[in-house]
Amino acid sequence: MDAPARTDDVVAAKIPDGVYAETVLSVEHYTDRLFRFRMTRPSGFRFRSGEFAMIGLMVGDKPVYRAYSIASPSWDEELEFFSIKVPDGPLTSHLQAIKPGDTVLMRKKPTGTLVLDALTPGKRLYMFSTGTGIAPFASLIRDPDTYDMFEEVILTHTCREVAELKYGFDLMEEIRNHEFLGEIVGTKLKHYPTVTREDYPYQGRITDLMESGKLYTDLGVPPLEPAIDRGMICGSAAMLKDTKVLLEKAGLNEGANNKPAEFVIERAFVG
Ligand SMILES: Cc1cc2nc3c(=O)[nH]c(=O)nc-3n(C[C@H](O)[C@H](O)[C@H](O)COP(=O)(O)OP(=O)(O)OC[C@H]3O[C@@H](n4cnc5c(N)ncnc54)[C@H](O)[C@@H]3O)c2cc1C
Repeated sequence: MDAPARTDDVVAAKIPDGVYAETVLSVEHYTDRLFRFRMTRPSGFRFRSGEFAMIGLMVGDKPVYRAYSIASPSWDEELEFFSIKVPDGPLTSHLQAIKPGDTVLMRKKPTGTLVLDALTPGKRLYMFSTGTGIAPFASLIRDPDTYDMFEEVILTHTCREVAELKYGFDLMEEIRNHEFLGEIVGTKLKHYPTVTREDYPYQGRITDLMESGKLYTDLGVPPLEPAIDRGMICGSAAMLKDTKVLLEKAGLNEGANNKPAEFVIERAFVG
C-alpha cells in the first residue's frame, strides 16, 4: 500500500500547469491595511524593473490570482511585493495571513508600462504614487539603470495616514545602507511623502501641490519642462486622470512600450 500523501504533495498536485509555486521567506505588517512580503524567485523568471505579474493562492480547490507590481528590482535574487489587505477581498483576505514557508503562486509572464524603456531620455524622473502604487517604484528606485538614465529621481508618495508611509521610509533607509546602491544613488533620489488626512509637514494631494507649485518649491526644482522632465504615475483611476492632465498641460506626452514618450501610467488597482 502507498504511504499517505504529505500535505505539500497534495498542494503540489493541485497547482496548475504553467505556474510557479514559490516559498514565502518573510512577511512584515505595516498597518491593518498594508503589508510587505518576500518570496523565492524562480530561476528562469526574468522581468524588467517596474513590471507586474499575476500572483495567487489556492483557495479551496481553485487558484485566485490578482495583478501585483513586483516591488523588488530585476537584479534581486528574491521577489518582494507590497500589498493591501481588503477585508473581504477574494485574494487578500487570505494573502494577509501568509507566513514564511507558505506557497504563493505566480503566473510566468510579467508585463507593464512603468518601465524605463517606455520613456524617452530626460534629466529628471518623477514617480508619482498613492498607496500601494509605490510598489513598481520600489523596484525602479533600487535599479542602477534608473540612475544611468536620469540625473535626478523624485518619488512622491501620498497616503491618507502617516503610518501608511512607512514602507517608503524603509526603502530609503535600505538604499542608503546598501553596499553598492548607496553609492550609486547618492543624492540623486529625493523622497516626497505627503498625507491627506493627518497633520504632517507635507500635506495634501500631489495634484494640488503641483498646481500650487509647492511641490517644486519644497524640492528646489523648476516646474515641469518637457525637454528635461519625465514622469511615471501609479495610483487610483482618479489620481491617474488628474495627474495626467497636469503633465499634459506642461507639454509632456503619454508613452507606451512600443512608443516611448515623456510619461507613462498604470493603475494601482481596479475599482
Ligand atoms: C496593474 C496592477 C498592479 C497591481 N499591483 C498591486 C500591488 O502591487 N499591490 C497591491 O496590493 N495591489 C495591487 N493591485 C491590485 C490587486 O490586483 C488586487 O486588487 C488586490 O490585491 C486586492 O485583491 P482582492 O482579491 O483581495 O480584492 P479585489 O476584489 O481585487 O478588490 C476589491 C476592492 O478593493 C479595492 N482595492 C483593491 N486593491 C487595492 C489597492 N492596492 N489599494 C487600494 N484599494 C484596493 C478596490 O476598491 C477593489 O474594487 C494591482 C492591480 C493592477 C491592475
